[in-house]
Amino acid sequence: MIKRQNLKVVENTETKVSCAGDEKSGKHPLVYLTIKDGSAECYYCGKMFVTKETHERYLSKIRKKFKKTSKNV
Ligand SMILES: [Zn+2]
Repeated sequence: MIKRQNLKVVENTETKVSCAGDEKSGKHPLVYLTIKDGSAECYYCGKMFVTKETHERYLSKIRKKFKKTSKNV
């Protein structure tokens, strides 16, 4: 089972996200983060924001890892 820690998936069109922490990891002042290359990390709480596209890619990478990849070049 994959433990998802502090990861938030946002729309592909999002370029800016805001974060103010949460109950679990602690609240902090509201900050705005710019999504770069499909992801952004909050420097206060370490929360990761990824676009759907990036997230999908990430998931398929994991899936491939678990599946024994057949040679398909
Ligand atoms: Zn944060």
